[in-house]
Amino acid sequence: MTQKFDVCIRGGGIVGRVLALLLAQQQLKVVLRVWPPSGAAAAQGHSDIRAYALNAASREVLESVRAWPEREGEQMEPVTPVDRMEVQGDQGGRLCFRAADVGAEALNWIVDVPALEQRLVQALRFQSRVVVWDQAEDPPACPLTVVCEGRRSATRAEWGMSYDVKSYPHHALAARLHLPQAHSGVAKQWFKDGEIAALLPLGGAQGCDVALVWSAPHLKVTELLALNAPDFVLALTQITGLAPEDICLTHSPQSWPLELSQAQHWVLPGLALAGDAAHAMHPLAGQGLNAGLGDVAELARVLQAREYWRSLGDVKLLRRYERARKAEFAAMGGLTDGLFTLFKHPHPWVQQLRNQGFDVVNRWTPIKTWLTRQAMGR
Ligand SMILES: Cc1cc2nc3c(=O)[nH]c(=O)nc-3n(C[C@H](O)[C@H](O)[C@H](O)COP(=O)(O)OP(=O)(O)OC[C@H]3O[C@@H](n4cnc5c(N)ncnc54)[C@H](O)[C@@H]3O)c2cc1C
Repeated sequence: MTQKFDVCIRGGGIVGRVLALLLAQQQLKVVLRVWPPSGAAAAQGHSDIRAYALNAASREVLESVRAWPEREGEQMEPVTPVDRMEVQGDQGGRLCFRAADVGAEALNWIVDVPALEQRLVQALRFQSRVVVWDQAEDPPACPLTVVCEGRRSATRAEWGMSYDVKSYPHHALAARLHLPQAHSGVAKQWFKDGEIAALLPLGGAQGCDVALVWSAPHLKVTELLALNAPDFVLALTQITGLAPEDICLTHSPQSWPLELSQAQHWVLPGLALAGDAAHAMHPLAGQGLNAGLGDVAELARVLQAREYWRSLGDVKLLRRYERARKAEFAAMGGLTDGLFTLFKHPHPWVQQLRNQGFDVVNRWTPIKTWLTRQAMGR
């Protein structure tokens, strides 16, 4: 006899897995369609070298499903609190955010991506209401399907849902580095000549490792990927101002294309989009996954609060989710797009103005506090 499910989630990325756990907590029977099968990526030696900056709202969601990663055995500390964030413009403009200034434990947490993915896989093993479906054929039809297949979602295209894409002329390059001294929980970001680089602290408060995220023009990224380690380090010193002897490349760089994108409609009767399948943005503010986790938390809340006579796929119900999350994405997507455009502008006046802007924001406590709280998901 075929099994019946309440919800089908398509896409076993972080967003899809977290949604499966949230819905299972509501006693819903969930089928999680994972493609390619979980083992296939591991067999191909796939390992994501990124580390994500996750905010307090995301931490709460992950804790609520027992998937906030913690250190296990001798492994490197998978979560590092960010105490301070230092941002430098290209003409001496500076901005510094401190957790203590807003009375918070941390501005955000830098989370090792493979450790988080592993934690989610484990959490799902203990959840009997979720069936992980990695067969080639489709799972049985459900009253509600949630598509969490990322930016290039095939299901979204099959349903004829259009997705507007503004491609940026940049790729993001990620790598891991070792520094001679402890980072002390300080994240650093540089805006220089239209490029943006960030070093995010890893390995716990006293760690010496950092994750690099570097947004640069396509051609430059292709050239950087072809460099040997010493030449790559040399190129990095030009944007960060660090000395070459202070940087040791520990993991080879990987790259991703960048875009601002959004589906025109996020819901249809019986269908909803979440995470990057609904929207994507430049990672300069480290907000993409935070937005995706915000989506699934809101969708789970809307489904739980539904009137008893509404079905899970009722489009009026799903529109409550769409309205709330579209507004949130418009604000964050617009901010990252505005910053990217502003810092790419080559005109000297614009250059001067944006650096002055940094200094003004740095001195203007109310706006700085507001910006800090926004980034923290508050
Ligand atoms: C360089 C870089 C740095 C970033 N840093 C941050 C950060 O610091 N903080 C932050 O919040 N965000 C960050 N982001 C954004 C973050 O990576 C994404 O927002 C997040 O990964 C989206 O998760 P997702 O599960 O929606 O999509 P994805 O991660 O793309 O996962 C989609 C999943 O669906 C699967 N799939 C695809 N098609 C199908 C199908 N037909 N059937 C079943 N499964 C399918 C895929 O195999 C994949 O497992 C960064 C992005 C980049 C590029």
